[in-house]
Formats: sequence, C-alpha cells, structure tokens
Amino acid sequence: TEKLSSRDPELFSAMTDELGRQRDEIELIASENIVSAAVMEAQGSVLTNKYAEGYPGRRYYGGCQYVDIAENLARDRAKELFGCKYANVQPNSGSQANQGVFTALLQPGDTILGMSLDAGGHLTHGAKPNQSGKWFNAIQYGVRQQDQRIDYDAVQELALEHKPKLIIAGGSAIPRQVDFAKFREIADSVGAYLMVDMAHFAGLVAGGQHPSPFPHADVVTTTTHKTLRGPRGGMILTNDVEIAKKVNSAIFPGIQGGPLMHVIAAKAVAFGEALRPEFKSYAAQVIENAQALADQLMKGGLDIVTGGTDTHVLLVDLRPKGVKGNATENALGRAHITCNKNGIPFDPEPPMVTSGVRLGTPAGTTRGFGVAEFRQIADWIVEVVDGLAANGEDGNGEVEAKVKAEVEALCARFPLYPDL
Ligand code: PLP
Repeated sequence: TEKLSSRDPELFSAMTDELGRQRDEIELIASENIVSAAVMEAQGSVLTNKYAEGYPGRRYYGGCQYVDIAENLARDRAKELFGCKYANVQPNSGSQANQGVFTALLQPGDTILGMSLDAGGHLTHGAKPNQSGKWFNAIQYGVRQQDQRIDYDAVQELALEHKPKLIIAGGSAIPRQVDFAKFREIADSVGAYLMVDMAHFAGLVAGGQHPSPFPHADVVTTTTHKTLRGPRGGMILTNDVEIAKKVNSAIFPGIQGGPLMHVIAAKAVAFGEALRPEFKSYAAQVIENAQALADQLMKGGLDIVTGGTDTHVLLVDLRPKGVKGNATENALGRAHITCNKNGIPFDPEPPMVTSGVRLGTPAGTTRGFGVAEFRQIADWIVEVVDGLAANGEDGNGEVEAKVKAEVEALCARFPLYPDL
C-alpha cells in the first residue's frame, strides 16, 4: 500500500516532471497521443500480474478466466471497429505486429517490397539496419520527385522485376491517403500478399475519416497508441482464416511469450472509446486541424511536402527559410513545442540533420485544440523558425521565451489530466 512517492522518490520525481512536461508543452509528435484516464487505469492494474500464454479458452496457465474476458472484449471491439473477422491483440508493439506477419507468411530470404525509410516508410518495412532488411531480400519503393507522392508505376515495375512474396503499404511519414485498391492490383499481378501497416492512420479509419485497408489487404497491422489513442502496443487484423491461424501461431509461440494482459485490457478500453460517436468527431477534427496547420505554415513561408495533408501528419520542408530539421526541433523545444526532425523525400541532408520536421495533430486535438489554436501554433512555429533563420542555430532567445510563455498560457487553458 506504500505510495510510489515514498517508496521510490527518485522515480516518482521523474514521472512527476514528465507529467509537467506533457501539461506545459504542445505535443506535435505525429505518432503520439494522450490516452484517457480509463486507459491508464486498465494498464496500471492487477492484470500485469497474470501469465496467459495462449489464447482465450486455450491457455497454458490456470486462472485465466477473467483475462480471457478482457482479451475477448479487445478482439471483438477491434473486429467491430475495423469491420473484419479476425484480430490478434497480443503484439507488444507495432514492430512485433509486423514481425508476426513476416513470421506467419514468409521464410528467411524471401523477397518483400516496402516503402523506404527516407520516403516515409518504417524501419520494419525492409530498412537495412532492421531485421526485416537483414533477414529478407528487401526491395524498397519511394515517391515521385515531382509531387512527392507514391510512384505506383515504379511500385508495379519493382513488383514485376522482383516478384515479392509480400508487399507492404503504409508508413510513418505519409501525409496523403494511400491507394489500397492500386496496391491490391499490383499485388495480384505478381501473386503477392498485401499487408497494410495502418499504424499511423488507424484512428482515422476507426473514426470513419479515412478509407479502410479492407477489403484490399490480406492482412493489416497497426500500433494502438497513435491516432487510435490506446496504450502502446500492436495488433494484427485479417479476414482470411488461414492467415489468422498462421498469425496466431506466429505471435505465440512464434515470437512472443506471455501476452501483456494489462495492456490488452487497456486496448479493450481504447477500442470501446473509439466505437463511440465522439471518436468520429475527434478523427474529423484531427484532419481539419492538420490542414489548418499546414495552410498557416505555408502562409508563413514554409513548404509542406505534397502541398498539404489528407491525414493527421504533415512534413514541413524548411528549405525556404534556410534552416535545418535538427536546429528547428531544438529551437521549438526551447519554446515548449515538441516535434521531431524528419527527412523529406530526396533530402540533401543526413538523417541526424534533415531539412524537415514532422508535425501531427492527434495529441493537440485530444487536448481540445481546434483550428484557431492550430493556426496560432503555426504562427509561433514560423516566429521561432524566422529567429533561427536570422540568428543561426542559437535562434532568437527573446522570441523563443515569448513564444514559450504564450504556449504555456494556451496549455493552461486546456488542462491535461486535471485529476492527477
Ligand atoms: N509501423 C509504422 C508505420 C510506424 O509508424 C511505427 C511506429 O513508429 C511502427 C510500425 C512500429 O511501432 P512500435 O514503435 O510500436 O514498434
């Protein structure tokens, strides 16, 4: 019964500071969100004590009758949310969801075709330093130079040339909707499986604001913590019973042991929240906010990759102001606006520098920011970036301090976790 504050003051203080940081800063990292107190309650629960290797009704441990209920709720809600027949909610992360699909459908050495990291793909889609790039013959597609959109003709050509067993659509920095039907056509032309990794936009699909990867995809993977606003974790969905069976064996005992039942319970809570009508308005607002943010940044003289966004994420091309992604991330951080540097397509700068930053609206939207707040945030970003442009890496301290004070005032108007 001893409180964390007295049992472990050192850790408690780091956690308290993190809560303060989240309260006082504007979170623009596109892959982050702010979960409900109910999601945190489920995750910080006695379910963390339970071993439950196996699946509901078929466990390798006794005493699973209640965690079975939790996992069934998570699975049923996931299926309802995404309109599909089978859901595996056990992947501990998005990376493990992808690894699970590879384990289910591929052999080491098989050919896969995914989007390259520098064009907006994810590490697990065949990048060299990742297991997916080491254990498979990973071919990578990108975007067109002229409009920075996926080059479907090039994807088709690569598919015909390399005959991949699996094609991956989706990524971590794709501001536009992906054409799932086109990917299906390409996959069919070479007899490949189509996997859609909807980690980033799953919440927009759940909220009915983005096309669903079904019925086009054979298998869909996702994280549960981005736009979907659940606990950190992963999930695999499919309509194909044979794939579902293979995926289940691949996750357990293939690549994981005991599932994190407290996280699965939190997934159930989040999916329940996403089934409510309010989630539709949240998802619509996320996109409206992203479009306002992009528009206002362009008015301030910045370029936006593809000229805008259809989703929650935008990639800012900083080159019109002559500043770099790393310096911008740091300067915005000093002004209490949190984001990440990100390469833009065909970026002349190395990955630790970059010419861009990636911005997203899910966390701010959950907090309650609307279009007016996001236009204001864009103006602050432009002020800080102009300070960098005029003064070099150190930026303009006065402007950054002024923006920081204004950011804190805005944050105070939208209190975060007032009961904590
Ligand atoms: N897939 C995509 C498209 C992602 O953006 C991410 C997260 O960055 C992942 C997979 C991996 O998720 P995790 O960080 O939970 O392993």
